[in-house]
Amino acid sequence: MEGQQGIAAGPNPFCDVGRTHPRDRHRMRPVADQPGVWGCDRHDLFARVIPKEDAASLERGDPFPLPEGGEATVVRAGDERQGGVLLYYRT
Ligand SMILES: [Zn+2]
Repeated sequence: MEGQQGIAAGPNPFCDVGRTHPRDRHRMRPVADQPGVWGCDRHDLFARVIPKEDAASLERGDPFPLPEGGEATVVRAGDERQGGVLLYYRT
């Protein structure tokens, strides 16, 4: 069994760019080599589920250290799912 970090269950989330532009709504796709991560190739955007308490302290533009290494930049916290919150970020 994978831990919560590795789950990418449920529908693919809408891309954050498309979400705010109704005529350009499209969904993100699971990233092949990163379980639990969705990505949008067109907009260089990623999303993953993080604990709600972590999301509460994150603002747009904040650094977001990736569990697998490296650092990303917070775009926005999105919908709740799987007991956490969807976080959109750029790398
Ligand atoms: Zn997109």
